[in-house]
Amino acid sequence: MADPEVSTQSGGYDVELFVDTPDYDLICTICQGVLRCPVRAACHHIFCKKCILQWLKRQETCPCCRKPVNPSLIFVMFKLSKSIGRMKVKCKNEIRGCEETFPLSDQYCHSMSCLFELIPCPYQGCRAQLLRRDLDTHSRHCEHWRQPCHMGCGTILSHRTQAQHNCYKQLRQEYEARQRNHRAIATALQRKMRRMQSTMAHMKRQIGLICESLEVIDDLHEVEEEDLGESSGSSSGTPSSSSNC
Ligand SMILES: [Zn+2]
Ligand SMILES: [Zn+2]
Ligand SMILES: [Zn+2]
Ligand SMILES: [Zn+2]
Ligand SMILES: [Zn+2]
Repeated sequence: MADPEVSTQSGGYDVELFVDTPDYDLICTICQGVLRCPVRAACHHIFCKKCILQWLKRQETCPCCRKPVNPSLIFVMFKLSKSIGRMKVKCKNEIRGCEETFPLSDQYCHSMSCLFELIPCPYQGCRAQLLRRDLDTHSRHCEHWRQPCHMGCGTILSHRTQAQHNCYKQLRQEYEARQRNHRAIATALQRKMRRMQSTMAHMKRQIGLICESLEVIDDLHEVEEEDLGESSGSSSGTPSSSSNC
């Protein structure tokens, strides 16, 4: 009766998970699991909400009695959902050694603290998957383990550096490195300043030379003008410029 494709895509809770075999009434006809978020159709048949909604996408009839089902007329059964939530289940990590049982509604909470839950190593770069209970042992040897120095010096330590770490030494080294850096910057600035000063001195000299040559040209002009004046006044006479020099 149940569509095999539908039952793999959605579904109720695995029957095997329950400590006591669940009542036949609590099994969803579509997925054969224990009802997850049970809803009742007008014909009074009950299914997981996801299961029946998926079923109705194909045909709007009840998978049990073939009566027509209006998708907007299915009702969530909160009371039934709650009593299913109170049923005792085994941990899904039973196969790895967890022997705990708890109400179905505590399943998520338990998985967050279950010592037999498979978790990835929390240290960045480590690809190890381990049981939560083995995390401490693993951390002691994990080469990706990183933690700031517990003395508060700010150094991030690995297992390799932790043994020879000394806060005072570390801080002094950092201080010295910073000082060296500052000194290097100061030296570079001084060198730059000296270069600029020598450029400026060179420019000053050049400007002086230009001024001097301009004066010489001016003098020459003056002499030429004087020469012209004299030659226009009288045709005879020696150039007076020779006496100026
Ligand atoms: Zn179902
Ligand atoms: Zn029905
Ligand atoms: Zn567990
Ligand atoms: Zn690790
Ligand atoms: Zn330290």
